[in-house]
Amino acid sequence: MSLKEEEGSDTPRLNIAIDGYSACGKSTLAKQLAQELNLTYIDTGAMYRAITLLLIRNGKIDDLSHNVTIKELGLELVDINFETDQHNNRILHINGESVENMIRSMNIAKHVSNVAEIPAIRKLLVQLQQKMAENGGVVMDGRDIGTVVLPNADLKIFMTASPGIRAQRRLKQLENQGVATTLEEVKGNITKRDHKDENRLTDPLRKADDARVLDNSELTHEEQLKLVMNWVHQIK
Ligand code: C5P
Repeated sequence: MSLKEEEGSDTPRLNIAIDGYSACGKSTLAKQLAQELNLTYIDTGAMYRAITLLLIRNGKIDDLSHNVTIKELGLELVDINFETDQHNNRILHINGESVENMIRSMNIAKHVSNVAEIPAIRKLLVQLQQKMAENGGVVMDGRDIGTVVLPNADLKIFMTASPGIRAQRRLKQLENQGVATTLEEVKGNITKRDHKDENRLTDPLRKADDARVLDNSELTHEEQLKLVMNWVHQIK
Protein backbone atom coordinates (compact mmCIF):
# COMPACT_ATOMS: atom_id res chain seq x y z
CA MET A 1 0.00 0.00 0.00
CA SER A 2 1.22 3.51 -0.76
CA LEU A 3 1.85 5.79 2.17
CA LYS A 4 0.56 8.74 0.24
CA GLU A 5 -3.08 9.15 1.02
CA GLU A 6 -4.51 12.26 -0.52
CA GLU A 7 -7.60 13.65 1.12
CA GLY A 8 -10.57 12.27 -0.77
CA SER A 9 -8.54 9.71 -2.71
CA ASP A 10 -9.82 6.15 -2.99
CA THR A 11 -6.51 4.69 -1.80
CA PRO A 12 -7.15 2.62 1.31
CA ARG A 13 -5.42 4.14 4.35
CA LEU A 14 -2.82 2.44 6.47
CA ASN A 15 -3.77 0.30 9.48
CA ILE A 16 -1.12 -0.38 12.15
CA ALA A 17 -1.52 -3.05 14.85
CA ILE A 18 0.45 -2.85 18.11
CA ASP A 19 0.34 -5.69 20.63
CA GLY A 20 2.40 -6.60 23.63
CA TYR A 21 2.72 -6.98 27.36
CA SER A 22 1.18 -4.64 29.92
CA ALA A 23 2.92 -1.33 30.46
CA CYS A 24 5.56 -1.58 27.77
CA GLY A 25 4.64 1.71 26.15
CA LYS A 26 2.17 0.62 23.49
CA SER A 27 -0.01 3.68 23.87
CA THR A 28 2.98 6.05 23.78
CA LEU A 29 4.15 4.55 20.51
CA ALA A 30 0.61 4.43 19.11
CA LYS A 31 0.09 8.12 19.88
CA GLN A 32 3.46 9.03 18.33
CA LEU A 33 2.56 7.15 15.13
CA ALA A 34 -0.95 8.56 15.00
CA GLN A 35 0.46 12.07 15.14
CA GLU A 36 3.29 11.44 12.71
CA LEU A 37 1.13 9.67 10.12
CA ASN A 38 -2.16 11.45 10.71
CA LEU A 39 -3.90 8.25 11.80
CA THR A 40 -6.61 7.73 14.40
CA TYR A 41 -5.43 6.14 17.66
CA ILE A 42 -7.67 3.44 19.13
CA ASP A 43 -6.83 2.21 22.64
CA THR A 44 -8.59 -1.16 22.86
CA GLY A 45 -7.42 -1.72 26.46
CA ALA A 46 -9.52 1.30 27.42
CA MET A 47 -12.56 -0.47 25.98
CA TYR A 48 -12.00 -3.56 28.16
CA ARG A 49 -11.41 -1.26 31.12
CA ALA A 50 -14.67 0.61 30.45
CA ILE A 51 -16.66 -2.63 30.33
CA THR A 52 -15.02 -3.57 33.63
CA LEU A 53 -16.15 -0.26 35.13
CA LEU A 54 -19.73 -0.92 34.03
CA LEU A 55 -19.67 -4.43 35.51
CA ILE A 56 -18.37 -3.08 38.83
CA ARG A 57 -21.12 -0.48 38.82
CA ASN A 58 -23.91 -2.90 38.00
CA GLY A 59 -22.73 -5.43 40.59
CA LYS A 60 -21.88 -8.21 38.11
CA ILE A 61 -18.10 -8.21 38.57
CA ASP A 62 -17.98 -10.87 41.28
CA ASP A 63 -19.98 -13.55 39.52
CA LEU A 64 -18.61 -13.69 36.01
CA SER A 65 -18.91 -17.11 34.45
CA HIS A 66 -17.02 -18.06 31.28
CA ASN A 67 -20.15 -18.52 29.17
CA VAL A 68 -22.15 -15.57 30.44
CA THR A 69 -24.02 -13.65 27.71
CA ILE A 70 -23.98 -9.93 26.95
CA LYS A 71 -27.66 -9.81 27.91
CA GLU A 72 -27.03 -11.49 31.26
CA LEU A 73 -24.29 -8.93 31.91
CA GLY A 74 -26.74 -6.09 31.18
CA LEU A 75 -24.54 -4.83 28.34
CA GLU A 76 -26.82 -5.29 25.32
CA LEU A 77 -27.47 -1.55 24.91
CA VAL A 78 -24.00 -0.33 25.76
CA ASP A 79 -22.70 2.50 23.59
CA ILE A 80 -18.88 2.80 23.43
CA ASN A 81 -17.06 5.39 21.39
CA PHE A 82 -14.04 7.69 21.37
CA GLU A 83 -14.42 11.45 21.04
CA THR A 84 -11.59 13.85 20.25
CA ASP A 85 -11.23 16.70 22.74
CA GLN A 86 -9.82 20.19 22.10
CA HIS A 87 -6.25 18.95 22.81
CA ASN A 88 -6.67 16.23 20.21
CA ASN A 89 -6.85 13.49 22.88
CA ARG A 90 -9.16 10.57 22.17
CA ILE A 91 -11.48 10.27 25.16
CA LEU A 92 -13.50 7.13 25.73
CA HIS A 93 -17.22 7.65 26.27
CA ILE A 94 -19.53 4.99 27.46
CA ASN A 95 -23.26 5.64 27.22
CA GLY A 96 -22.37 9.30 26.67
CA GLU A 97 -20.22 9.59 29.82
CA SER A 98 -16.49 10.35 29.70
CA VAL A 99 -14.80 7.59 31.71
CA GLU A 100 -11.12 8.21 30.87
CA ASN A 101 -10.06 9.08 34.44
CA MET A 102 -12.04 6.33 36.14
CA ILE A 103 -10.74 3.45 34.02
CA ARG A 104 -7.07 3.93 35.02
CA SER A 105 -7.54 3.00 38.70
CA MET A 106 -5.82 0.01 40.31
CA ASN A 107 -9.24 -1.48 41.07
CA ILE A 108 -10.07 -1.60 37.36
CA ALA A 109 -6.57 -3.01 36.62
CA LYS A 110 -7.23 -5.77 39.16
CA HIS A 111 -10.42 -6.98 37.47
CA VAL A 112 -9.90 -6.21 33.78
CA SER A 113 -8.12 -9.41 32.72
CA ASN A 114 -10.95 -11.53 34.21
CA VAL A 115 -13.44 -9.51 32.18
CA ALA A 116 -11.27 -9.77 29.04
CA GLU A 117 -11.29 -13.56 29.07
CA ILE A 118 -15.07 -13.81 28.65
CA PRO A 119 -15.75 -14.85 25.02
CA ALA A 120 -18.99 -12.83 24.68
CA ILE A 121 -17.21 -9.65 25.74
CA ARG A 122 -14.30 -10.27 23.37
CA LYS A 123 -16.73 -10.90 20.51
CA LEU A 124 -18.58 -7.66 21.22
CA LEU A 125 -15.44 -5.53 21.41
CA VAL A 126 -13.60 -7.19 18.50
CA GLN A 127 -16.60 -6.47 16.23
CA LEU A 128 -16.66 -2.87 17.36
CA GLN A 129 -12.90 -2.48 16.85
CA GLN A 130 -13.09 -3.98 13.36
CA LYS A 131 -15.86 -1.53 12.52
CA MET A 132 -13.72 1.38 13.75
CA ALA A 133 -10.91 0.24 11.42
CA GLU A 134 -12.95 -0.72 8.37
CA ASN A 135 -12.02 2.39 6.38
CA GLY A 136 -8.34 2.20 7.36
CA GLY A 137 -6.33 4.99 8.91
CA VAL A 138 -6.01 3.62 12.43
CA VAL A 139 -3.24 2.70 14.79
CA MET A 140 -4.72 0.30 17.30
CA ASP A 141 -3.04 -1.14 20.39
CA GLY A 142 -4.02 -4.12 22.51
CA ARG A 143 -3.28 -7.82 22.92
CA ASP A 144 -4.98 -9.47 19.94
CA ILE A 145 -4.87 -6.78 17.27
CA GLY A 146 -2.38 -8.37 14.87
CA THR A 147 -3.76 -11.87 15.42
CA VAL A 148 -7.55 -11.38 15.63
CA VAL A 149 -8.83 -7.83 15.17
CA LEU A 150 -6.71 -6.71 12.19
CA PRO A 151 -5.05 -9.82 10.75
CA ASN A 152 -4.47 -7.86 7.50
CA ALA A 153 -2.88 -4.81 9.12
CA ASP A 154 -0.22 -3.12 6.98
CA LEU A 155 2.28 -3.17 9.85
CA LYS A 156 2.20 -5.32 12.98
CA ILE A 157 4.39 -4.56 15.98
CA PHE A 158 4.83 -6.77 19.03
CA MET A 159 6.22 -4.75 21.94
CA THR A 160 8.11 -5.89 24.95
CA ALA A 161 10.40 -4.43 27.64
CA SER A 162 12.01 -5.86 30.76
CA PRO A 163 9.54 -6.41 33.67
CA GLY A 164 11.44 -4.06 36.04
CA ILE A 165 11.43 -1.21 33.54
CA ARG A 166 7.76 -1.74 32.74
CA ALA A 167 6.78 -1.58 36.42
CA GLN A 168 8.83 1.60 36.96
CA ARG A 169 7.29 3.28 33.94
CA ARG A 170 3.72 2.35 34.89
CA LEU A 171 4.28 3.52 38.49
CA LYS A 172 5.47 6.89 37.23
CA GLN A 173 2.49 7.16 34.89
CA LEU A 174 0.03 6.31 37.68
CA GLU A 175 1.68 8.75 40.08
CA ASN A 176 1.35 11.48 37.46
CA GLN A 177 -2.34 10.66 37.24
CA GLY A 178 -2.65 10.93 41.02
CA VAL A 179 -3.30 7.20 41.56
CA ALA A 180 -2.02 6.01 44.98
CA THR A 181 -0.02 2.77 44.62
CA THR A 182 3.39 1.18 45.18
CA LEU A 183 6.03 -0.43 42.95
CA GLU A 184 5.22 -3.84 44.47
CA GLU A 185 1.51 -3.48 43.73
CA VAL A 186 2.16 -2.35 40.16
CA LYS A 187 4.64 -5.19 39.56
CA GLY A 188 2.21 -7.77 40.96
CA ASN A 189 -0.64 -6.48 38.81
CA ILE A 190 1.42 -6.43 35.61
CA THR A 191 2.71 -9.98 36.16
CA LYS A 192 -0.77 -11.34 36.89
CA ARG A 193 -2.34 -9.62 33.88
CA ASP A 194 0.39 -10.81 31.51
CA HIS A 195 -0.03 -14.38 32.73
CA LYS A 196 -3.81 -14.26 32.31
CA ASP A 197 -3.60 -12.52 28.93
CA GLU A 198 -1.16 -15.12 27.57
CA ASN A 199 -3.03 -18.11 28.92
CA ARG A 200 -6.70 -17.37 28.32
CA LEU A 201 -8.61 -19.63 25.91
CA THR A 202 -10.07 -16.92 23.68
CA ASP A 203 -7.73 -14.65 21.70
CA PRO A 204 -4.70 -14.94 24.01
CA LEU A 205 -1.80 -12.51 23.79
CA ARG A 206 0.45 -13.84 21.01
CA LYS A 207 2.92 -12.36 18.59
CA ALA A 208 1.47 -12.61 15.08
CA ASP A 209 3.82 -14.57 12.80
CA ASP A 210 4.34 -11.50 10.63
CA ALA A 211 4.80 -9.00 13.49
CA ARG A 212 8.04 -7.08 14.05
CA VAL A 213 9.35 -7.33 17.60
CA LEU A 214 10.16 -4.08 19.37
CA ASP A 215 12.01 -4.32 22.70
CA ASN A 216 12.15 -0.74 23.93
CA SER A 217 13.86 -1.39 27.30
CA GLU A 218 16.88 0.64 26.21
CA LEU A 219 15.26 3.04 23.73
CA THR A 220 14.21 6.65 24.17
CA HIS A 221 10.85 7.73 22.72
CA GLU A 222 12.70 9.42 19.85
CA GLU A 223 14.79 6.33 19.04
CA GLN A 224 11.70 4.14 19.17
CA LEU A 225 9.78 6.38 16.78
CA LYS A 226 12.71 6.56 14.36
CA LEU A 227 13.00 2.78 14.27
CA VAL A 228 9.29 2.25 13.67
CA MET A 229 9.09 4.99 11.04
CA ASN A 230 11.78 3.06 9.16
CA TRP A 231 9.50 0.03 9.21
CA VAL A 232 6.59 2.18 8.04
CA HIS A 233 8.61 3.38 5.08
CA GLN A 234 9.37 -0.22 4.13
CA ILE A 235 5.66 -1.01 3.72
CA LYS A 236 5.00 -1.72 0.05
O1 C5P B 1 -3.79 -2.00 27.47
P1 C5P B 1 -4.33 -2.05 28.89
O2 C5P B 1 -3.28 -2.40 29.90
O3 C5P B 1 -5.11 -0.84 29.26
O4 C5P B 1 -5.36 -3.27 28.84
C1 C5P B 1 -6.06 -3.68 30.00
C2 C5P B 1 -6.40 -5.15 29.88
O5 C5P B 1 -7.38 -5.34 28.86
C3 C5P B 1 -5.26 -6.10 29.52
O6 C5P B 1 -4.51 -6.54 30.64
C4 C5P B 1 -6.01 -7.25 28.88
O7 C5P B 1 -6.48 -8.14 29.88
C5 C5P B 1 -7.21 -6.59 28.25
N1 C5P B 1 -7.06 -6.40 26.81
C6 C5P B 1 -7.33 -7.47 25.97
N2 C5P B 1 -7.32 -7.30 24.63
C7 C5P B 1 -7.03 -6.11 24.09
C8 C5P B 1 -6.73 -5.01 24.91
C9 C5P B 1 -6.73 -5.20 26.28
O8 C5P B 1 -7.60 -8.56 26.45
N3 C5P B 1 -7.06 -5.98 22.75
